[in-house]
Amino acid sequence: MILQGGIVGLGGAVFPTAQKLLQANTCEIDYLLLNGVECEPYISCDDVLMRERAREVIGGAQILMHALGLDVSYIVIESDKPEAVKALGVALGEIGDERIVLKQVPTIYPSGGEDQLVQLVTKREVPSGGLPTDVGCLVQNVGTAVAVYDWIENHEPLISRVTTVTGNGVARPMNVRARFGTTVADIVNFVGGYTEHARQLIIGGPMFGRSVTTDRVPIVKASNCVLVMSEAPDPGPEMPCIRCGECAEVCPIRLLPQQLFWYACADDEKKLRIHGLTDCIECGCCDLVCPSHIPLTHNFRVAKGRIQELADEKARAERAHRAGQTRARS
Ligand code: SF4
Ligand code: SF4
Repeated sequence: MILQGGIVGLGGAVFPTAQKLLQANTCEIDYLLLNGVECEPYISCDDVLMRERAREVIGGAQILMHALGLDVSYIVIESDKPEAVKALGVALGEIGDERIVLKQVPTIYPSGGEDQLVQLVTKREVPSGGLPTDVGCLVQNVGTAVAVYDWIENHEPLISRVTTVTGNGVARPMNVRARFGTTVADIVNFVGGYTEHARQLIIGGPMFGRSVTTDRVPIVKASNCVLVMSEAPDPGPEMPCIRCGECAEVCPIRLLPQQLFWYACADDEKKLRIHGLTDCIECGCCDLVCPSHIPLTHNFRVAKGRIQELADEKARAERAHRAGQTRARS
């Protein structure tokens, strides 16, 4: 049923929920973690959902636990969200399901990443290149839980979502529930239009979002935020790496960004893999602290794209080779 409702992960990754549940059912799962930790600064759509639809968050958790045959679920909230904690506490008290536990975690970016959340809550470390299910956890966004509830209980498929509309470039920043297909232009009009500060339009948050040059684009399942901002300050010219190690200090995955940058510039795919490029979550923390203004995350994104292209090319060549062998035999 979840597949038929078009439900996907609403934290931003939009991975099909049914597929995630089917994969989880092939593993030994101990905990369902409902992720209520905002994935980036500025975004507050999960907070507002937990405050206003706490019963549905819990109802969605119950359905997901049923699908997984689980007895323990954590709803994970940042400690600076007292209203969400209160609303969920009240709803849990009314529903009286002791299998579901509220868990508060410190507000430190990027705790909302799946692997970071698993580590914070269960102290289990997701292996490099692995999934939370490898350590007995399944993570779903709180918005996904509400979407599951709305479909299973109210027969409303996933046709809308809560989106944060924010930044000093809009007149009245707020969270809106928008049908998919609504244009960003219509949503900005709804919140009072642009201000004189509006210079750049980003779909998504300030770290993972993408700049767009027109507001005639639709809200889709992945649109967790519409951010309208003034011109970003010029960080200054890029300079050579001074090996200060600041980037490694702040990397939540404990990678060595300065080393990865070196291998990305040299296009050394093997070393990039060995040093864990594929584990980089593109959080942008290393960029923020780099005194040489090196756009590290951008370089990592491009390098990952190249690695993926090479893998796709290899897979295509193998398929063509196998097809050739089959034709030769027949
Ligand atoms: S973007 Fe930088 S800080 Fe973030 S995970 Fe990747 S290497 Fe680490
Ligand atoms: S923070 Fe910048 S300058 Fe310092 S080691 Fe990392 S890449 Fe080099």
